[in-house]
Amino acid sequence: MTDSEYEQTERTRIFRKPGRGSYDRELVHSILDEALTCHVGFIQDGQPFVVPTIHARVEDTLFLHGARGNRTFNVLGDGVPCCVTVTLVDELVLARAALHHSLNYRSVMVLGRAHEVTDPGEKGEALRAVVEHIAPGRAEEVRGPDETDLKSTKVLSMEIEEASAKVRTGPPADEEKDLDLPNWAGRLPLTQGTGDPVTAPDLAEDLPVPKSVRGWARP
Ligand SMILES: Cc1cc2nc3c(=O)[nH]c(=O)nc-3n(C[C@H](O)[C@H](O)[C@H](O)COP(=O)(O)OP(=O)(O)OC[C@H]3O[C@@H](n4cnc5c(N)ncnc54)[C@H](O)[C@@H]3O)c2cc1C
Repeated sequence: MTDSEYEQTERTRIFRKPGRGSYDRELVHSILDEALTCHVGFIQDGQPFVVPTIHARVEDTLFLHGARGNRTFNVLGDGVPCCVTVTLVDELVLARAALHHSLNYRSVMVLGRAHEVTDPGEKGEALRAVVEHIAPGRAEEVRGPDETDLKSTKVLSMEIEEASAKVRTGPPADEEKDLDLPNWAGRLPLTQGTGDPVTAPDLAEDLPVPKSVRGWARP
């Protein structure tokens, strides 16, 4: 591992289309930060599970949080090997041949073990990072976790030790023999937008929509 790259290991070496692979730390971080949620995979009693959940990254650590009785977090908290993936789908790639249809995407896979965060200060910071991951600026606008919140919530930290990114960009890759076919080919960019904020029906008073909501966007 260097300052700018994660070490390419036997487990993270990209065999298929290696040109799309990267171990660049900034790229890995940017994909993790832009993705709202991740999927965490682990094996319990021989059965693989892949669970969608919210993550937050602080430097080289991922934080996950869940209710104390949560099965996934209880299993992961024991330090069992796990795998976190995130995927950003940027464009549809529409080829002349059905076979060559694809997606332009950015994805990351992180391998490691998660451990429970028990220090109240570190736990509070991790929960703050989770809120900030979803809506930057939101942590300043709301009540922070109190003692009861901290007790009822389990926070896991996972060091990003092994990580890879895989990115596809560019036009469809049709075969030479198909280039003259009378079928349209190209890319359809996808965007992530927001609708109008919907005020909670039990809001205590008529409050303005705060900055973190008005200006919400992914990094
Ligand atoms: C986008 C997204 C973000 C989420 N973020 C969080 C988070 O930050 N923290 C958190 O604690 N939970 C989060 N959840 C819920 C999470 O996916 C799990 O449902 C939850 O963590 C409970 O896990 P468990 O292993 O205790 O579930 P259990 O209830 O023990 O799981 C039992 C069975 O229920 C089914 N099941 C459980 N979860 C799901 C699911 N999501 N979809 C379909 N079937 C399911 C499966 O068959 C599973 O084997 C999120 C879900 C989504 C979709």
